[in-house]
Amino acid sequence: MELLKQRILKDGQVLGNDILKVDSFLNHQMDVQLFNEMGKEFFRLFAHKNVTKILTIESSGIGIACIAAQYFNVPVVFAKKTEAKNLDSHTYLAEVFSFTKGKTYSVRVSQKYINPNDIVLIIDDFLANGKAALGLADIVGQAGAQVAGIGIAIEKGFQDGGKLLREKGLEVQSLAIVQSMQNGKISFSE
Ligand code: 5GP
Repeated sequence: MELLKQRILKDGQVLGNDILKVDSFLNHQMDVQLFNEMGKEFFRLFAHKNVTKILTIESSGIGIACIAAQYFNVPVVFAKKTEAKNLDSHTYLAEVFSFTKGKTYSVRVSQKYINPNDIVLIIDDFLANGKAALGLADIVGQAGAQVAGIGIAIEKGFQDGGKLLREKGLEVQSLAIVQSMQNGKISFSE
């Protein structure tokens, strides 16, 4: 998606060799007009899948998922990273290794909000090694529901996540695929 690629080139900052910081429009301040274009694009890519629900993970996926959901006209469920007293006791649980934090954490979704009839589109902001998306796909499986596909804003194509998920037969559609970030210079794969 050209608009997103141009924005990454204009405002993205490369940290070290493998972290892309996009706080000014995606991960901290959010450009809602850009999100709207991203939502439209996700709908174009997945409209034929009869999606009944969008699943994402807190926190950065939520904004993108909510705007996309307005096109699909379906609810958004987000996996919670913290255990809280007000979360239902019957939950689906997956362990996720966080690439950015370097540690494993649990994510939970109440069993009320995904059921076996659901066709679930997973949406997230970044795809690195694929652990977050795999955790979400696992939760969909635990619910007996079907994964419609995985919609990612920014895939880092030089990490393994995309390959891993596609090899599992999951349809992954990324709006921008960063091929390399060598010496702070960002290039895209297509
Ligand atoms: P994965 O689970 O695919 O290894 O990593 C994806 C998750 O890590 C995303 O939910 C995102 O929050 C975070 N992440 C991974 N790489 C980056 C990055 O380069 N920049 C930012 N801002 N977040 C990232």
